[in-house]
Amino acid sequence: MDLEYSAEHEAFRGRVQEFLKGWPLTGAESKLPMEEQEAIFRKRGIEAGFVYRSVPKAYGGSEQPRDAIADRIIQEEFYKVGAPRDLLTQGAGMLVPTLLEFGTEAQKERYIPPALTGEERWCQGYSEPGSGSDLASLQCQARLDGDEWVLNGQKIWTSSAQRAHMMFGLFRTEPDAKKHDGISYLLVPMDRPGIEVRPLKEMAGGHEFNEVFFTDARIPAGNIVGQRGQGWQVSRATLVHERNLIGNPFMMREAFSDLLALARSRTRDGRPAIEDPGIRRRLAEIEGYVQTCELSNMRQFTAANRGEMLKVMRPMMMNKVFSTDTMQRIARCAYDLLEGDGVLAPLEEELDKWGRTASPTGWVLQYMFSLGPAIAGGATNIQLNIIGERGYGLPRDLRRTS
Ligand SMILES: Cc1cc2nc3c(=O)[nH]c(=O)nc-3n(C[C@H](O)[C@H](O)[C@H](O)COP(=O)(O)OP(=O)(O)OC[C@H]3O[C@@H](n4cnc5c(N)ncnc54)[C@H](O)[C@@H]3O)c2cc1C
Repeated sequence: MDLEYSAEHEAFRGRVQEFLKGWPLTGAESKLPMEEQEAIFRKRGIEAGFVYRSVPKAYGGSEQPRDAIADRIIQEEFYKVGAPRDLLTQGAGMLVPTLLEFGTEAQKERYIPPALTGEERWCQGYSEPGSGSDLASLQCQARLDGDEWVLNGQKIWTSSAQRAHMMFGLFRTEPDAKKHDGISYLLVPMDRPGIEVRPLKEMAGGHEFNEVFFTDARIPAGNIVGQRGQGWQVSRATLVHERNLIGNPFMMREAFSDLLALARSRTRDGRPAIEDPGIRRRLAEIEGYVQTCELSNMRQFTAANRGEMLKVMRPMMMNKVFSTDTMQRIARCAYDLLEGDGVLAPLEEELDKWGRTASPTGWVLQYMFSLGPAIAGGATNIQLNIIGERGYGLPRDLRRTS
């Protein structure tokens, strides 16, 4: 593993830092709503070759040569100053790479540019009430009727469906085929008659999840990615990108710094909590996890830079398992440091006043939120199965085949 960057890459870092002097925006631009400011800066980032590097120029990206170390440097530097980079939405982060791999030319031209800018928002319609970990058992149906698919059934846990213009979803199109072979990957406009989005309220008081019901909803027959009945293979590609979005070592380091600040500001027996031996032991343990994630990430970048990406399949899966677990440890430790203030913290409404980690409310929300990513995109147990079976070649777990 290389822990040093080459002189060439350090020079590249200098160019990134120079570019980042343009963030935050100044003058009249700084008065615009934040979403517009971010869009302006992201466009400049594309022109400079720092944003959407793997997306061809024809579809709105900056089409740069593959360079994993350069990607990491950009990530590090953009993260430090909080500058807007590639959107990590379902559209830009998950659908776009899937279309690049499986989409037709017409689909790439039509859907990629507005997904990159966020003008067209997407949601992911995979999970159903009886089909989460065992996703291939899904029952939502699409029947071809002339030049339209007719959709019937229900999706659940559909994040941000209430704001989405489009859904990429999995539907059973060949009811008689074996379960993995009967699924197609469809692109569904959310404004069609027969589609109803119902909110699911979360324990923290917010509403990000939904149920989506389809009752004879019709979409064009051409809104299919890949071949009919081969949606499972297409969906695998999307899931890899989803898992890669979860597990960012920079986010972990920042959360850990916030935790240290909290430990300094709270007291135990009249002394700063950070001097308490029990707290120190927990902090040291968490620091070990954070460092391990950082080093593991470095190892992957080293391998990717040498063109050995396939060999690092195991660490890539490990990122999600390990980072979601570490984020939970950080949030749990913060919650314990808050003692009674955590239990009594008012919810959501206080957050804007204080910021996410400067108040007990921020930490309590973070604690609640930290439970979700370990389940989203495939629960930890499932990831461990995949790592064991495909990564280490262990015997396969028992599975239902129909
Ligand atoms: C924050 C968040 C956002 C989400 N967003 C979306 C979204 O936008 N779109 C979407 O389609 N879905 C979304 N989901 C749903 C998510 O994909 C599912 O929750 C997940 O796949 C698990 O499915 P399940 O909830 O049905 O749990 P189950 O599959 O019922 O699993 C329950 C428990 O059993 C364990 N388990 C199940 N099978 C096995 C096995 N074979 N071996 C060992 N343990 C097993 C699991 O690990 C889990 O702990 C989201 C979930 C979360 C938490």
